Amino acid sequence: MTLKQFMKQAKHLSLPDKALIKSAFIFSQKAHSGQKRFSGEPFFSHPGAVALELTKMGFDGKIVSAGLLHDTLEDTSVSREELAKNFGGEILEIVEGVTKLGKVRLKKTWFGLGLPKKERLPEYERQIETLKKMFLAMSRDIRVVIIKIIDRLHNMQTIQFLAPEKRLRFASETLKIYAPLAYRLGMGEIKGKLEDLAFPIVYPEEYQILVQKIKSQQKRQQKVINKAIRVSRRLLALNQLEIINIHGRVKYLYSLYKKMNLAEYDGDIAKIFDLVAVRIIVKNVADCYCALGIIHQRWRPLPGRVKDFIALPKPNGYSSLHTTVFGPAGKPLEIQIRTPFMHEQAEYGIAAHWQYKEKTSRTKNWLKKIFPDSSQGIKWLTNLIRIQKNIKDPYELAKILELDFFSDRIFVFTPAGDVKDLPQDASPIDFAYAIHTEVGHHYAGARVNGQMVNYEYRLKNNDIVEIIVKKKARARRDWLKAVKTSDARQKIRRATQKA
Ligand code: MN
Repeated sequence: MTLKQFMKQAKHLSLPDKALIKSAFIFSQKAHSGQKRFSGEPFFSHPGAVALELTKMGFDGKIVSAGLLHDTLEDTSVSREELAKNFGGEILEIVEGVTKLGKVRLKKTWFGLGLPKKERLPEYERQIETLKKMFLAMSRDIRVVIIKIIDRLHNMQTIQFLAPEKRLRFASETLKIYAPLAYRLGMGEIKGKLEDLAFPIVYPEEYQILVQKIKSQQKRQQKVINKAIRVSRRLLALNQLEIINIHGRVKYLYSLYKKMNLAEYDGDIAKIFDLVAVRIIVKNVADCYCALGIIHQRWRPLPGRVKDFIALPKPNGYSSLHTTVFGPAGKPLEIQIRTPFMHEQAEYGIAAHWQYKEKTSRTKNWLKKIFPDSSQGIKWLTNLIRIQKNIKDPYELAKILELDFFSDRIFVFTPAGDVKDLPQDASPIDFAYAIHTEVGHHYAGARVNGQMVNYEYRLKNNDIVEIIVKKKARARRDWLKAVKTSDARQKIRRATQKA
């Protein structure tokens, strides 16, 4: 890639940004000259590819330049002083952050099932220490995390050149740490790509089985999709609704694999309706609802499958309308309707907001959700660090990390429509504590979607949960068996110790 080719992709940036990128490009190319990657390509192809992706995602000159320079401190003779002199302290700090993060290595033992044996405790404690450092580095400047995620994406795309035993560690780390991180930042596409690159390496057999299973299904569904696209296009045009884009989307394999393993699907691929989906992109929010109405007039919706993530966005900012209809030939088909902005946000998350210089109120709200405390710290990350500081027992800490960070999340609602983000299989008690400590302590029962449930009930995505509190009710030790969040666990412990 030449400078000229690269700058073509950066056309939309300001003049000072372009100048900065140009000098970073030349500087990095020179610093890495003579170095080669495992693939035999010049080393510069790597930072070049990372920076190009960042540019395409719409990030500014500083992030793109830091992307170009991200391996210079580690792998070349360039010094901190030189970097600071040429590009300023801010870019130096980002590059240093990325370098530090790159040194954090999680051993394979970390990814084993269950907890380690007693004799390996010292080794395990070291791992926890590294992990803590990692979280801390990330919480200081979000840009470090963004570059690290894209760096990982490119390394995964070229993983075939690594030694096999390194491949497994790399892919596990990607699945356990980088994909969840990308998801937390709302980068849905990047998360899907990372997972699908790691999936065949971490679970080769499961991967093969799944690929075989979906082959015939997908072909059949593709026909349905094509028909649905043709019909939708005509219907919307008839109603004078402007379509920006309409396309089919295929589900990422790893997310399909995870979904199939959920109890409600029982490994049966035929029960999954969103294997493929039609995505309709229209001008504005009003048109989204309008399009939904038009679609529903033609194809009857499946009850309980209409989801309004525009009125109630997911905690990571995702918004769209989803519906499953009895589509062409009466087959269930998922349809997603969104605006161009929502689409960008779903694909690139935080990056979508970088491009909108003057912040709209929606952008502001979204940013507030992800950065409630400061402009650069992430709330769940700072929370995690706070909790970790108080915990000395590595077993307890490992449990918390599994629960809060590495687990999948569900979205559960209060009757007023507030959304809470909880780990999978969370109980009504977790939900109560997520609302308020006192609500947890005085929990006396819960209604889920209007039905009374006991405290061991496992919440599901989109459940509406009403907590019943009684003044006399007190936290109980046996709740500990049911809770899935470290927050609830700690509070119950504390409350029941006092008694
Ligand atoms: Mn790199």
